Amino acid sequence: EVLVIGSANADLTVRVDRRPGPGETVLGTDLVESAGGKGANQAAAAARLGARTALLARVGDDAFGQLLLEAQHAAGTELRHVLVEKGARTGTAMIVVGPDGDNTIVVSPGANARLSPADVRAAREAVAASAVVSLQLEIAPETVRTAVETATESGTRVVLNPSPAPESLDPGLLAAADPLVVNEHEAGLLSGLPDGTPTDQAHALRDRGARSVVITLGAEGALVLDTGAPVHVPGIKVEAVDTTGAGDAFTGALALRLSRGATLENAARFAVRVGAASVTRPGAQPSYPTAEELA
Ligand code: ADP
Repeated sequence: EVLVIGSANADLTVRVDRRPGPGETVLGTDLVESAGGKGANQAAAAARLGARTALLARVGDDAFGQLLLEAQHAAGTELRHVLVEKGARTGTAMIVVGPDGDNTIVVSPGANARLSPADVRAAREAVAASAVVSLQLEIAPETVRTAVETATESGTRVVLNPSPAPESLDPGLLAAADPLVVNEHEAGLLSGLPDGTPTDQAHALRDRGARSVVITLGAEGALVLDTGAPVHVPGIKVEAVDTTGAGDAFTGALALRLSRGATLENAARFAVRVGAASVTRPGAQPSYPTAEELA
């Protein structure tokens, strides 16, 4: 149903009472290692919710790679396309979670940087067999472009989360995005309207070529711009413990529902619930709900 092509990272998380400024040191809690990376997160989110999900990604043959493989296996992801590279370091994200539950992240790409256009071409059949391919930007740009081309050739729907946000987005990528899924920061940057309303930003992103647009609004839910007027899907009130990977939970859930033929608005209503559930528990993948937990 869903093929995610993207990054897999070990998340190394420390919580702090106060963020350090430049040149400053603060003490945090004990280090927590958990499975993350935007691609792996989206795959885990969809798989835990019951979708037939495959992940095309690269990890190293180190302990972090093992951690990631085990996490995907536990989520129920098809692992045939997860490539384990000898001698490479698995991607790593260093995450600092503040008292408000918000996070600051530095990513070391490691093996993710070597996920190549040839890897995508080798998985062409999996692309064609999937209803939806979900992409983010934590891998090489030419790999993302090849994925978009391969998906377009086979009529596979492309969900694109342009994160981390580039200064500007390749028009070919934008034109394939159905939808483009962005958070408020990415919406501001890519629409050219950093101070605009989400509605204005969504229209601007569509004017720039996206077929449809979803802007996630944190606790406020999401804004959906498909063929009709923009629709605000309200957020769900929960106590946020850790927002790490909330956007990925949202996007994985959205891809799942779209792969089953839901409208974008209905898929977003479901994804808002999944995103809200994910912030009530710590970590990225460990926080993702199963269909039963969601109910
Ligand atoms: P990102 O993690 O990419 O910055 P958002 O912060 O917009 O993305 O969160 C993605 C989704 O997760 C939201 O659309 C919402 O469904 C859910 N979410 C995030 N933060 C909260 C929160 N504090 N309360 C409830 N839901 C939240």
